Amino acid sequence: MLIQLTYASRTSPNIGPADIKDILQSSQRNNGTLGVTGALCLANGIFLQQLEGDRQTVNQVYHRLLHDTRHTNPAVLDFGEISCRRFGAWNMGLISAVPDNRQLFLKYSNTAHFDPYLMSVPTLRAFFDEVIQSVRWLS
Ligand code: FAD
Repeated sequence: MLIQLTYASRTSPNIGPADIKDILQSSQRNNGTLGVTGALCLANGIFLQQLEGDRQTVNQVYHRLLHDTRHTNPAVLDFGEISCRRFGAWNMGLISAVPDNRQLFLKYSNTAHFDPYLMSVPTLRAFFDEVIQSVRWLS
């Protein structure tokens, strides 16, 4: 059964570009082997990740990354069955708050800062729909 899981977490203090690079590299390597696809957003000190793939496999990946000390306060925001993958061949793309993407982050924010913890499920889904269509991929 194919599912998607969306969660948010806060970056740990002192996390730097090398950590982000490490996270992306291991995500792309592991997810490629496991058949997991998705996207990782980073803005305002918050990670927002959508994972899609086999239900059991996505659960395993999520439980593994819960132990990662590079982030805190993980919270599942959306989880459900999907009929097909939306991220296709992207084992993990990174979207960060570079100037080209800031408008996109703000468009779906209740406040002046991107805060996925406050976003409703329809808003999260609309955000990822737009990510898929128009974002500048940095990975
Ligand atoms: P390696 O690739 O060998 O490790 C890579 C680097 O990460 C090394 O420098 C190592 O020191 C460091 N590292 C590994 N584990 C930890 C840890 N628990 N705490 C601090 N540093 C560590 N992994 C995935 O497979 N798929 C994902 O989609 C995914 N998304 C992530 C999203 C976020 C926001 C974060 C923070 C992590 C994510 N990870 C993901 C990484 C995951 O938590 C594990 O670190 C990774 O899966 C371990 O892979 P590996 O065994 O191949 O380790």
